[in-house]
Amino acid sequence: MEKPDYTIRQLLEMDACTNCRLCAEACPAALAATDGRLSAVYRLSRLRENLKGKTSLLQKLLGRKALSQEDRKKYADTVFRCTLCGNCQEVCPLGIRLKEIWFSLRRDLAHSDAFPQKIDMIRKNLSQSRNVFAEDNAERADWVADMRHPRDDSYLKKQAEVIFFTGCVASYFPLAQKIPIALAEILDAGGVDFALLGQEEWCCGFPLLGAGFMEMFDELREHNLASVKAMGAKTAIFACPSCYQMWRDHYHAEIELTHVTEFLLKLVRSKNLEFKSLPMTVTYHDPCDLGRGARVFDPPREIIRSIPGIKLIELPRNKENCRCCGGGGNLEMMDAELAGKIAKLKVEEILSTGAQSVVTSCQQCVRTITAYVKRNKISLEVMDIVQLVRKAMESH
Ligand code: SF4
Ligand code: SF4
Repeated sequence: MEKPDYTIRQLLEMDACTNCRLCAEACPAALAATDGRLSAVYRLSRLRENLKGKTSLLQKLLGRKALSQEDRKKYADTVFRCTLCGNCQEVCPLGIRLKEIWFSLRRDLAHSDAFPQKIDMIRKNLSQSRNVFAEDNAERADWVADMRHPRDDSYLKKQAEVIFFTGCVASYFPLAQKIPIALAEILDAGGVDFALLGQEEWCCGFPLLGAGFMEMFDELREHNLASVKAMGAKTAIFACPSCYQMWRDHYHAEIELTHVTEFLLKLVRSKNLEFKSLPMTVTYHDPCDLGRGARVFDPPREIIRSIPGIKLIELPRNKENCRCCGGGGNLEMMDAELAGKIAKLKVEEILSTGAQSVVTSCQQCVRTITAYVKRNKISLEVMDIVQLVRKAMESH
């Protein structure tokens, strides 16, 4: 029997919605596009109508043909114009797990020909090259060559207790490669013996979750788990909140999983990292998957505050209410213009604080905000917290 796309719990949750519209007010996509059809309440009501009107309960539970092709095509456009930021779920007074419903809905659509072809590229790239950008996977750790003083083994040894799972974005985008470079330098300075998986690192599978193609995921997970096991690793560090989320929620790994902000905070607290004064005013952007997703709010703030001379100003919308930068949910691939409009709202909010720099903990947020700032010639420094820590060490 095929697994149904929607669980009984999800079907009950759909019925529980009271139409209060709080989720619509919190939705960055609906706000930026000025289009209520992108909001959670609209998407949920259409889904409910389609499921109720066209299927019996048994079909809902057993089948994948719940929505007609025509409905799917009209509807798919709104479904994929969502950053999967989870803000709707955060504000829903009934606690409806909207993000899980969005994943189920994408899975449902992936089984139909209403599926947006642009998104299909993810499946092709991952099956051919094991990374989301169709790059040569043997080049995953090429960024090491850009380090000033890399370790002789280029961090590619056979056994290591600590591994750094780099992620596709930081492995291949020149702008984002500065983050693993900075992290490797910090870990070296902090006396942490770590290794990379190199070409044995495959995409974590997060883009598949967002695309709705979880069938391919097992292969990626099994490979990554086997690679980590072969190294004898006890701890995996992630700088990418989406990789971190994937490993935490879908890998069932028997090792410690830690986001880099949590790992670096330990080094700060144990005085393994020393900072000199860095006189600057910064604000902090909580990445959706790290903040709302993993509830990691305090470690990055504690790291920032531990740097002498820094002044941290909070964004008007911060922590669990932080507004998405526009970089999530494969939205850039689907509707780059809308992703840019969401980034605009984000940058305007950042600028309202008067901070000279925005710090975040996600390479995709860095990419998205930097792209908007550069395109519009806005004077704002954008950096990952790893880069900030490295900068504070550089000021020796
Ligand atoms: S996940 Fe974010 S973008 Fe998607 S509907 Fe919810 S609030 Fe809107
Ligand atoms: S916030 Fe929750 S209850 Fe209110 S409209 Fe949205 S999904 Fe329905």
